[in-house]
Amino acid sequence: MTVRTILTQENPLLRRKAVKVTRFSKAVRQLVDDMFETLDAAGGVGLAAPQIGVLQRVFVVGLPAEYDDDGNEISPQEDYVLINPEIIFKQGEEELVEGCLSIPGYQGLVRRATSVVIKGQDEYGRPVRYSGEGLLAQAFQHELDHLDGVLYIDHLDSQNKFWAVEQASEEDAEDSAD
Ligand SMILES: [Zn+2]
Repeated sequence: MTVRTILTQENPLLRRKAVKVTRFSKAVRQLVDDMFETLDAAGGVGLAAPQIGVLQRVFVVGLPAEYDDDGNEISPQEDYVLINPEIIFKQGEEELVEGCLSIPGYQGLVRRATSVVIKGQDEYGRPVRYSGEGLLAQAFQHELDHLDGVLYIDHLDSQNKFWAVEQASEEDAEDSAD
């Protein structure tokens, strides 16, 4: 497995439409493995193949584990592989804070469906179908957009809804270490 480089916003590959996967070879499994490793290394929720420069309709989502107040795991991390995905049902709408590994250091407020049903194939070409709510629904919609060359910033209805995430500078870190 290999951690791949994540392309950022200015890369024109992120604006291209990805093509359907027709042959479920070992290379597809390798791609999915690399994508999970890249996602884990970057600390994100989802990653689409175009973000590592592969223009194929593949994305992965790693829904983080949940913990209670005492730090006990309530639910483990859930991994999803979607190839040639299609959203077949959408319900509700809410405005959610969203970020993207290809637009580091920023967040925005985007309208998304509250729940979706998505179908597609796994890395062996077997049909899969998932329903998601909340963060999972948001991730499915965000990653599917990547396969069509769409970024979340395209959905912003005002520039006020896009901001830089405050990061503690090294100076601040030194100050607080004193
Ligand atoms: Zn993204």
